[in-house]
Amino acid sequence: MSEPAQVLRTVFGYDSFRGDQQAIVEHVVAGGDALVLMPTGGGKSLCYQIPALVRDGVGIVISPLIALMQDQVDALSALGVRAGFLNSTQDPDERRMMEALYVAGELDLLYLAPERLRMESTPQLLSRGKISLFAIDEAHCVSQWGHDFRPDYLQLSHLHERWPEVPRIALTATATEATRKEIASRLNLEQARHFVSSFDRPNIQYRIVPKNEPKRQLLDLLRTEHKGDAGIVYCLSRSSVDKTAEWLTEQGIQALPYHAGLDAQTRATNQARFLREDGLVMVATIAFGMGIDKPDVRFVAHLDLPKSVEGYYQETGRAGRDGLPSTAWLAYGLQDVVQQRKMIDTSEGDDAHRRRLGQHLDAMLALCETVECRRSGLLAYFNETLTEACGNCDTCLTPPESWDGTIAAQKFLSAVFRLDKERRQRFGAGQVIDILLGRKTAKVIQHDHDGLTVFGIGTELNESEWRGVVRQLLAQGLLAVEGDYGTLSLTEASADVLGRRREVRLRRENAAKPPKAARTATAKAAAAELPAEAAPAFEQLRSWRAATAREQGVPAYVIFHDATLRQIATQAPTTLAELGTVSGVGENKLAKYGQAVLDTLAAGG
Ligand code: ADP
Ligand code: ZN
Repeated sequence: MSEPAQVLRTVFGYDSFRGDQQAIVEHVVAGGDALVLMPTGGGKSLCYQIPALVRDGVGIVISPLIALMQDQVDALSALGVRAGFLNSTQDPDERRMMEALYVAGELDLLYLAPERLRMESTPQLLSRGKISLFAIDEAHCVSQWGHDFRPDYLQLSHLHERWPEVPRIALTATATEATRKEIASRLNLEQARHFVSSFDRPNIQYRIVPKNEPKRQLLDLLRTEHKGDAGIVYCLSRSSVDKTAEWLTEQGIQALPYHAGLDAQTRATNQARFLREDGLVMVATIAFGMGIDKPDVRFVAHLDLPKSVEGYYQETGRAGRDGLPSTAWLAYGLQDVVQQRKMIDTSEGDDAHRRRLGQHLDAMLALCETVECRRSGLLAYFNETLTEACGNCDTCLTPPESWDGTIAAQKFLSAVFRLDKERRQRFGAGQVIDILLGRKTAKVIQHDHDGLTVFGIGTELNESEWRGVVRQLLAQGLLAVEGDYGTLSLTEASADVLGRRREVRLRRENAAKPPKAARTATAKAAAAELPAEAAPAFEQLRSWRAATAREQGVPAYVIFHDATLRQIATQAPTTLAELGTVSGVGENKLAKYGQAVLDTLAAGG
């Protein structure tokens, strides 16, 4: 039997465990049950893969991500690990062969789709071989209140009853306390050891900008900071996904659409291309992303406001799994607030449900409007405290100015008040702003709004500044928006502002310049730039990798990650032994690709 540390080095090519990995691995190797909460990119897979290699028997991995099983198995095979899967995509022959391998003990890991658990043949099959452990991936799928509930996950309790002595390890990147409790109780893991990591992702730079011309702003981001990078653009609706993907393509950026309205074949093709090819942009609704373990997603851009902080965290978390610098960018405007409130008002379910949705939105708005470190705000949502500002978010890098918006707020709120109380009329933000700016539009004249005392009293701000004021009043709960037309009304708290009992601080909208590089130690380590002299070698290695990946029909990252190629380019090894010291180069990959890598370097030299 090999030691975990040795497996880590020889099979995976890594020098040391990260965070809780070592403790988790040792606990499971010794036969203990574990519940692991670790952020995306934290390194959850090693936590069950190494115990499966160290312990006697085959590790059974339950995973809902059928479309990704082939890639997972390919990645393990490239490391020399004997892995296979059983799911509905296989024909009976393939399945029988895999079953035979399992029974003969010629596998280290066997991935099972959850629907297999329903079949009587599954426990029969499993009892014919030796099981080293059960790994339950994406364990939040057992939660009935989450987004990804899989009824078959409830069957997992039967496995435990049947094989009580086999250790179980459940893993998820879903962070909230409530979800953790629910997983523990449904999977009967209350007695298990819980390993809860920090959910900080220091290599991700969080930025939230006012939305002016969203498509232009996006294009700017892609052209100036993420040329040739792979990334995901999230949109709220299917039609905006299609339009945005089309538009980016016209602009010369390779972009693919993904949403539930596309047929299964197109979705599968687009997902496979995104995983396999370098530098594609996926434009998608949130239907896309769970379990996507592409390590080199360099940016996640949101063109619409996410519905909750948790959703925002999960979606942005798909950037930078490899630990290299990545961007989480969100453009957000007044219209987002209006639209989301409307969706909540018209959503199905009872009042309590709507109230909960409203609270989720409020927390998201607070994150958007904060003048403090975004990362602190984000982590606070998961009950984590950051001891100092992060130095790698937009508010840390270019601290926003705040200004005393009390008078502006009073002007705006009193216009809303007069319309409502004197005339029993309610209007959207556009009309109120026109009134304050003294614009005699057709709609203003039609309603005699030029006769109001507030007509023309707000010319010290321009239209976009006023929109910023309205957005922030909504976010602070000093104004409410309702209905199909986004009509505005006062809240209880508005009275305090109108009665001069409350001051209003607002964030100044600065023309959002891209912030410069990160400043803190962690962020800097993550940002370790490729030295200029290593850039040509890196590019040559990338094209060698692309060609090899195509030839073997696997995603490029299955061969080597970007981080590994960067280190190879920087160190420029000339012997296999030297190459073997690079992080991510294990014995199997050294034997398989080592010479080709050295040849590529020599040819470029
Ligand atoms: P998760 O499943 O938690 O999102 P993964 O298991 O995919 O994360 O790991 C994220 C990345 O970190 C992968 O590229 C993996 O190879 C790498 N990684 C994991 N553990 C280590 C380690 N101890 N040293 C170096 N790299 C690691
Ligand atoms: Zn910060």
